[in-house]
Amino acid sequence: MPTRHFASDNYAGIAPEAWAALAEANSHHVPAYGNDEWTRRAADAIREVFETPCEVFFVFNGTAANSLALAHSTQSYHSVLCHSVAHVETDECGAPEFFGNGTKLLQLPGEHGRLTPAGIEEAVKRRTDIHYPKPAVVTVTQATEVGTLYTPAELRAIGAMAKKHKLRFHMDGARFANAVAALGVAPREITWQAGVDVLCFGGTKNGIHVGEAVVFFDRELAKEFDYRAKQGGQLCSKMRFVSAPWLGMLKDGVWLRHAAHANAMAKLMHDLVSAIPGVKVLFPHQVNSVFVELPKPAIQAMYAKGWMFYNFIGEGGCRLMCSWDTQEEDVRAFVADLAAVMPK
Ligand SMILES: *Cc1c(COP(=O)(O)O)cnc(C)c1O
Repeated sequence: MPTRHFASDNYAGIAPEAWAALAEANSHHVPAYGNDEWTRRAADAIREVFETPCEVFFVFNGTAANSLALAHSTQSYHSVLCHSVAHVETDECGAPEFFGNGTKLLQLPGEHGRLTPAGIEEAVKRRTDIHYPKPAVVTVTQATEVGTLYTPAELRAIGAMAKKHKLRFHMDGARFANAVAALGVAPREITWQAGVDVLCFGGTKNGIHVGEAVVFFDRELAKEFDYRAKQGGQLCSKMRFVSAPWLGMLKDGVWLRHAAHANAMAKLMHDLVSAIPGVKVLFPHQVNSVFVELPKPAIQAMYAKGWMFYNFIGEGGCRLMCSWDTQEEDVRAFVADLAAVMPK
Protein backbone atom coordinates (compact mmCIF):
# COMPACT_ATOMS: atom_id res chain seq x y z
CA MET A 1 0.00 0.00 0.00
CA PRO A 2 1.35 3.45 -0.84
CA THR A 3 2.38 5.58 2.15
CA ARG A 4 2.34 8.93 0.38
CA HIS A 5 -0.50 10.16 -1.78
CA PHE A 6 -1.39 12.69 -4.45
CA ALA A 7 -4.68 14.00 -3.06
CA SER A 8 -3.43 17.24 -1.56
CA ASP A 9 -0.30 18.90 -0.29
CA ASN A 10 -2.01 18.96 3.11
CA TYR A 11 -1.90 15.15 3.26
CA ALA A 12 1.84 15.60 3.90
CA GLY A 13 3.28 16.02 7.37
CA ILE A 14 5.33 18.81 8.90
CA ALA A 15 8.58 19.81 7.21
CA PRO A 16 11.62 19.16 9.45
CA GLU A 17 12.59 22.85 9.60
CA ALA A 18 9.12 23.82 10.82
CA TRP A 19 9.18 20.96 13.31
CA ALA A 20 12.57 22.07 14.66
CA ALA A 21 11.34 25.64 15.08
CA LEU A 22 8.33 24.34 17.03
CA ALA A 23 10.61 22.38 19.34
CA GLU A 24 12.78 25.43 19.90
CA ALA A 25 9.73 27.57 20.71
CA ASN A 26 8.71 24.94 23.26
CA SER A 27 11.69 25.60 25.55
CA HIS A 28 10.39 28.29 27.93
CA HIS A 29 7.44 30.47 28.96
CA VAL A 30 6.69 33.49 26.78
CA PRO A 31 3.78 35.98 26.68
CA ALA A 32 0.58 34.72 25.03
CA TYR A 33 -1.62 36.04 22.20
CA GLY A 34 1.24 36.98 19.89
CA ASN A 35 3.11 39.29 22.26
CA ASP A 36 6.17 37.10 22.05
CA GLU A 37 9.59 37.12 20.42
CA TRP A 38 8.76 34.32 17.95
CA THR A 39 5.77 36.12 16.53
CA ARG A 40 7.66 39.41 16.28
CA ARG A 41 10.58 37.73 14.52
CA ALA A 42 8.32 35.73 12.17
CA ALA A 43 6.50 38.91 11.12
CA ASP A 44 9.90 40.56 10.53
CA ALA A 45 10.99 37.57 8.44
CA ILE A 46 7.89 37.98 6.27
CA ARG A 47 8.63 41.70 5.88
CA GLU A 48 12.13 40.71 4.74
CA VAL A 49 10.70 38.28 2.17
CA PHE A 50 8.55 41.05 0.69
CA GLU A 51 11.15 43.80 1.16
CA THR A 52 8.54 46.22 2.46
CA PRO A 53 7.06 47.27 5.83
CA CYS A 54 3.80 45.28 5.58
CA GLU A 55 1.45 44.36 8.45
CA VAL A 56 1.37 40.64 9.27
CA PHE A 57 -1.22 38.53 11.14
CA PHE A 58 -1.11 34.79 11.72
CA VAL A 59 -4.33 32.76 11.52
CA PHE A 60 -5.13 29.06 11.61
CA ASN A 61 -6.18 28.33 8.04
CA GLY A 62 -6.78 29.62 4.56
CA THR A 63 -10.55 29.89 4.79
CA ALA A 64 -10.18 32.24 7.77
CA ALA A 65 -7.36 34.19 6.13
CA ASN A 66 -9.33 34.73 2.92
CA SER A 67 -12.71 35.44 4.41
CA LEU A 68 -11.46 37.78 7.12
CA ALA A 69 -9.19 39.64 4.70
CA LEU A 70 -12.09 40.03 2.26
CA ALA A 71 -14.50 41.06 5.02
CA HIS A 72 -11.96 43.66 6.14
CA SER A 73 -11.81 45.07 2.60
CA THR A 74 -15.57 45.42 2.03
CA GLN A 75 -18.87 46.68 3.36
CA SER A 76 -21.77 44.23 3.52
CA TYR A 77 -23.36 45.75 0.37
CA HIS A 78 -20.19 45.24 -1.68
CA SER A 79 -19.22 42.44 -4.03
CA VAL A 80 -15.96 40.59 -4.57
CA LEU A 81 -14.99 39.65 -8.12
CA CYS A 82 -13.51 36.15 -8.25
CA HIS A 83 -12.98 33.34 -10.73
CA SER A 84 -15.77 30.76 -10.86
CA VAL A 85 -13.35 28.06 -9.64
CA ALA A 86 -11.87 30.24 -6.88
CA HIS A 87 -11.45 28.54 -3.51
CA VAL A 88 -13.35 31.43 -1.88
CA GLU A 89 -16.33 30.55 -4.08
CA THR A 90 -16.20 26.76 -4.23
CA ASP A 91 -14.45 25.56 -1.07
CA GLU A 92 -15.11 27.88 1.86
CA CYS A 93 -18.72 27.02 2.63
CA GLY A 94 -19.81 30.64 2.22
CA ALA A 95 -17.34 31.94 4.84
CA PRO A 96 -16.43 35.07 2.82
CA GLU A 97 -20.13 36.02 2.62
CA PHE A 98 -20.67 35.04 6.27
CA PHE A 99 -17.78 37.11 7.66
CA GLY A 100 -18.66 39.94 5.27
CA ASN A 101 -22.22 40.00 6.65
CA GLY A 102 -23.64 39.52 3.19
CA THR A 103 -20.85 40.64 0.88
CA LYS A 104 -21.53 38.82 -2.40
CA LEU A 105 -19.04 36.94 -4.51
CA LEU A 106 -19.48 37.55 -8.24
CA GLN A 107 -18.09 34.76 -10.40
CA LEU A 108 -16.11 35.59 -13.51
CA PRO A 109 -14.98 33.26 -16.30
CA GLY A 110 -11.40 33.00 -17.51
CA GLU A 111 -9.20 30.42 -19.19
CA HIS A 112 -7.23 28.01 -16.93
CA GLY A 113 -8.54 29.49 -13.69
CA ARG A 114 -7.26 32.98 -14.41
CA LEU A 115 -9.09 36.30 -14.44
CA THR A 116 -8.39 38.87 -17.12
CA PRO A 117 -8.42 42.68 -16.89
CA ALA A 118 -11.11 42.79 -19.59
CA GLY A 119 -13.29 40.35 -17.66
CA ILE A 120 -12.91 42.44 -14.52
CA GLU A 121 -13.84 45.63 -16.35
CA GLU A 122 -16.87 43.94 -17.90
CA ALA A 123 -18.09 42.85 -14.47
CA VAL A 124 -17.64 46.35 -13.04
CA LYS A 125 -19.38 48.07 -15.94
CA ARG A 126 -22.17 45.50 -16.35
CA ARG A 127 -24.29 47.41 -13.89
CA THR A 128 -23.60 50.59 -11.97
CA ASP A 129 -27.03 51.17 -10.48
CA ILE A 130 -28.04 51.01 -6.84
CA HIS A 131 -29.61 47.56 -7.21
CA TYR A 132 -26.34 45.81 -8.03
CA PRO A 133 -23.89 44.71 -5.28
CA LYS A 134 -21.13 47.28 -5.76
CA PRO A 135 -17.80 45.67 -6.77
CA ALA A 136 -15.17 46.58 -4.20
CA VAL A 137 -12.52 43.86 -4.42
CA VAL A 138 -10.98 41.64 -7.04
CA THR A 139 -9.39 38.41 -5.81
CA VAL A 140 -6.97 36.16 -7.67
CA THR A 141 -5.40 32.86 -6.63
CA GLN A 142 -1.65 32.46 -7.17
CA ALA A 143 -0.97 29.63 -8.05
CA THR A 144 -4.54 29.02 -9.27
CA GLU A 145 -6.89 26.22 -8.26
CA VAL A 146 -6.06 24.40 -11.51
CA GLY A 147 -2.31 24.69 -11.06
CA THR A 148 -1.64 27.57 -13.40
CA LEU A 149 0.14 30.87 -12.81
CA TYR A 150 -0.33 34.55 -13.43
CA THR A 151 2.82 36.18 -14.80
CA PRO A 152 4.06 39.38 -13.13
CA ALA A 153 2.83 41.33 -16.18
CA GLU A 154 -0.65 39.78 -15.96
CA LEU A 155 -0.84 40.68 -12.28
CA ARG A 156 0.30 44.24 -12.95
CA ALA A 157 -2.44 44.54 -15.58
CA ILE A 158 -5.05 43.28 -13.12
CA GLY A 159 -3.65 45.64 -10.48
CA ALA A 160 -3.96 48.56 -12.90
CA MET A 161 -7.54 47.60 -13.73
CA ALA A 162 -8.37 47.33 -10.03
CA LYS A 163 -6.92 50.77 -9.44
CA LYS A 164 -8.85 52.21 -12.38
CA HIS A 165 -12.13 51.04 -10.85
CA LYS A 166 -11.14 51.65 -7.22
CA LEU A 167 -11.19 47.96 -6.35
CA ARG A 168 -9.01 46.46 -3.65
CA PHE A 169 -6.72 43.68 -4.88
CA HIS A 170 -6.66 40.47 -2.81
CA MET A 171 -4.50 37.44 -3.50
CA ASP A 172 -5.20 33.92 -2.21
CA GLY A 173 -1.68 32.56 -1.89
CA ALA A 174 -2.37 29.12 -0.42
CA ARG A 175 0.32 27.95 -2.87
CA PHE A 176 2.21 31.23 -3.10
CA ALA A 177 5.51 29.44 -2.42
CA ASN A 178 5.00 27.16 -5.43
CA ALA A 179 4.25 30.20 -7.58
CA VAL A 180 7.37 32.09 -6.50
CA ALA A 181 9.53 29.00 -6.95
CA ALA A 182 8.12 28.31 -10.42
CA LEU A 183 8.29 31.89 -11.68
CA GLY A 184 11.71 32.57 -10.19
CA VAL A 185 10.67 36.10 -9.26
CA ALA A 186 11.11 38.19 -6.13
CA PRO A 187 7.93 37.90 -4.01
CA ARG A 188 7.44 41.68 -4.24
CA GLU A 189 7.11 41.47 -8.04
CA ILE A 190 3.92 39.43 -7.89
CA THR A 191 2.41 41.19 -4.88
CA TRP A 192 2.68 44.83 -3.85
CA GLN A 193 4.62 45.89 -6.92
CA ALA A 194 1.72 44.58 -9.00
CA GLY A 195 -0.78 46.41 -6.82
CA VAL A 196 -1.81 43.64 -4.41
CA ASP A 197 -3.22 45.17 -1.21
CA VAL A 198 -3.52 42.01 0.86
CA LEU A 199 -2.06 38.53 0.45
CA CYS A 200 -3.10 35.35 2.24
CA PHE A 201 0.29 33.68 2.40
CA GLY A 202 -0.05 29.93 2.76
CA GLY A 203 2.08 28.06 5.27
CA THR A 204 0.24 24.77 5.66
CA LYS A 205 0.61 23.40 2.14
CA ASN A 206 4.25 24.50 2.10
CA GLY A 207 5.04 22.26 5.12
CA ILE A 208 3.97 24.12 8.27
CA HIS A 209 1.73 22.17 10.68
CA VAL A 210 -1.01 24.82 10.74
CA GLY A 211 -1.29 28.41 9.74
CA GLU A 212 -1.39 31.12 7.14
CA ALA A 213 -0.19 34.71 7.30
CA VAL A 214 -2.43 37.60 6.29
CA VAL A 215 -0.06 40.16 4.84
CA PHE A 216 -1.35 43.70 4.33
CA PHE A 217 0.72 45.76 1.91
CA ASP A 218 -1.88 48.50 2.30
CA ARG A 219 -1.13 49.20 5.96
CA GLU A 220 -4.08 51.55 6.35
CA LEU A 221 -6.37 48.65 5.41
CA ALA A 222 -4.80 46.55 8.19
CA LYS A 223 -6.19 48.83 10.91
CA GLU A 224 -8.11 46.86 13.55
CA PHE A 225 -7.61 43.56 11.70
CA ASP A 226 -6.36 42.21 15.03
CA TYR A 227 -9.88 42.72 16.41
CA ARG A 228 -11.46 41.06 13.38
CA ALA A 229 -9.17 38.06 13.71
CA LYS A 230 -9.96 37.74 17.41
CA GLN A 231 -13.72 38.03 16.78
CA GLY A 232 -13.36 35.42 14.03
CA GLY A 233 -11.84 32.97 16.51
CA GLN A 234 -8.42 33.27 14.92
CA LEU A 235 -6.28 34.72 17.71
CA CYS A 236 -4.22 31.80 18.94
CA SER A 237 -3.38 32.12 22.62
CA LYS A 238 -0.16 30.08 22.30
CA MET A 239 0.62 32.08 19.20
CA ARG A 240 4.28 31.12 19.12
CA PHE A 241 3.32 27.67 17.91
CA VAL A 242 1.66 29.21 14.87
CA SER A 243 4.34 31.82 14.18
CA ALA A 244 7.62 30.06 15.03
CA PRO A 245 7.48 27.50 12.18
CA TRP A 246 7.57 30.40 9.73
CA LEU A 247 11.05 31.24 11.02
CA GLY A 248 12.24 27.73 10.25
CA MET A 249 10.66 27.81 6.80
CA LEU A 250 11.71 31.31 5.73
CA LYS A 251 15.32 30.88 6.86
CA ASP A 252 17.79 30.45 4.00
CA GLY A 253 15.05 29.96 1.42
CA VAL A 254 13.81 26.64 2.87
CA TRP A 255 10.21 27.47 1.86
CA LEU A 256 11.25 27.90 -1.78
CA ARG A 257 13.34 24.73 -1.79
CA HIS A 258 10.39 22.70 -0.54
CA ALA A 259 8.07 24.34 -3.07
CA ALA A 260 10.53 23.84 -5.93
CA HIS A 261 10.83 20.17 -4.97
CA ALA A 262 7.04 19.73 -5.05
CA ASN A 263 6.95 21.49 -8.41
CA ALA A 264 9.70 19.23 -9.78
CA MET A 265 7.86 16.09 -8.63
CA ALA A 266 4.73 17.31 -10.44
CA LYS A 267 6.80 17.97 -13.56
CA LEU A 268 8.03 14.36 -13.42
CA MET A 269 4.44 13.15 -12.87
CA HIS A 270 3.30 15.26 -15.81
CA ASP A 271 5.96 13.94 -18.15
CA LEU A 272 5.39 10.31 -17.18
CA VAL A 273 1.57 10.29 -17.20
CA SER A 274 1.35 12.16 -20.49
CA ALA A 275 3.29 9.31 -22.07
CA ILE A 276 0.62 6.77 -21.04
CA PRO A 277 -1.80 6.14 -23.96
CA GLY A 278 -5.33 7.31 -23.09
CA VAL A 279 -4.31 9.76 -20.33
CA LYS A 280 -5.34 13.31 -21.15
CA VAL A 281 -3.67 16.20 -19.33
CA LEU A 282 -6.25 18.91 -18.68
CA PHE A 283 -4.32 22.09 -17.88
CA PRO A 284 -0.84 23.36 -18.68
CA HIS A 285 1.52 22.09 -15.97
CA GLN A 286 3.12 24.95 -14.04
CA VAL A 287 3.39 24.21 -10.31
CA ASN A 288 2.92 21.19 -8.00
CA SER A 289 -0.20 19.64 -9.52
CA VAL A 290 -1.17 17.72 -12.62
CA PHE A 291 -4.79 17.43 -13.74
CA VAL A 292 -5.68 14.43 -15.86
CA GLU A 293 -8.75 12.86 -17.36
CA LEU A 294 -8.88 9.12 -16.70
CA PRO A 295 -11.44 6.45 -17.56
CA LYS A 296 -13.71 5.70 -14.56
CA PRO A 297 -12.61 2.02 -14.27
CA ALA A 298 -8.97 3.15 -14.12
CA ILE A 299 -9.80 5.60 -11.30
CA GLN A 300 -11.58 2.84 -9.37
CA ALA A 301 -8.68 0.44 -9.95
CA MET A 302 -6.20 3.04 -8.63
CA TYR A 303 -8.35 3.61 -5.53
CA ALA A 304 -8.50 -0.17 -5.05
CA LYS A 305 -4.69 -0.24 -5.08
CA GLY A 306 -4.79 2.24 -2.21
CA TRP A 307 -3.88 5.45 -4.02
CA MET A 308 -5.62 8.60 -2.85
CA PHE A 309 -6.33 11.53 -5.16
CA TYR A 310 -9.28 13.79 -5.85
CA ASN A 311 -11.50 13.34 -8.89
CA PHE A 312 -13.97 16.18 -8.40
CA ILE A 313 -12.70 18.41 -11.18
CA GLY A 314 -15.29 17.81 -13.87
CA GLU A 315 -16.41 14.37 -15.07
CA GLY A 316 -13.37 12.13 -14.65
CA GLY A 317 -10.98 15.03 -13.97
CA CYS A 318 -8.37 13.92 -11.44
CA ARG A 319 -5.95 16.12 -9.53
CA LEU A 320 -2.51 14.71 -8.73
CA MET A 321 -0.89 16.99 -6.16
CA CYS A 322 2.73 16.78 -5.05
CA SER A 323 4.08 18.06 -1.76
CA TRP A 324 7.39 18.88 -0.07
CA ASP A 325 7.91 15.22 0.83
CA THR A 326 6.83 13.53 -2.42
CA GLN A 327 9.58 11.17 -3.56
CA GLU A 328 10.53 10.24 -7.09
CA GLU A 329 9.76 6.60 -6.21
CA ASP A 330 6.21 7.60 -5.20
CA VAL A 331 5.64 9.18 -8.60
CA ARG A 332 7.13 6.21 -10.45
CA ALA A 333 5.09 3.70 -8.43
CA PHE A 334 1.90 5.66 -9.12
CA VAL A 335 2.66 5.88 -12.82
CA ALA A 336 3.49 2.16 -13.07
CA ASP A 337 0.20 1.28 -11.40
CA LEU A 338 -1.71 3.67 -13.62
CA ALA A 339 -0.13 2.31 -16.79
CA ALA A 340 -1.15 -1.19 -15.68
CA VAL A 341 -4.82 -0.31 -15.05
CA MET A 342 -5.42 1.77 -18.17
CA PRO A 343 -7.64 -0.03 -20.73
CA LYS A 344 -5.54 -1.59 -23.45
C1 LIG B 1 -6.03 24.91 0.52
C2 LIG B 1 -6.46 26.20 -0.03
C3 LIG B 1 -6.88 27.25 0.82
C4 LIG B 1 -6.96 27.09 2.32
O1 LIG B 1 -7.87 26.16 2.74
P1 LIG B 1 -8.08 25.75 4.27
O2 LIG B 1 -8.50 24.34 4.20
O3 LIG B 1 -9.13 26.66 4.80
O4 LIG B 1 -6.78 25.97 4.97
C5 LIG B 1 -7.20 28.45 0.25
N1 LIG B 1 -7.13 28.65 -1.08
C6 LIG B 1 -6.73 27.68 -1.92
C7 LIG B 1 -6.64 27.96 -3.37
C8 LIG B 1 -6.41 26.42 -1.42
O5 LIG B 1 -6.02 25.45 -2.26
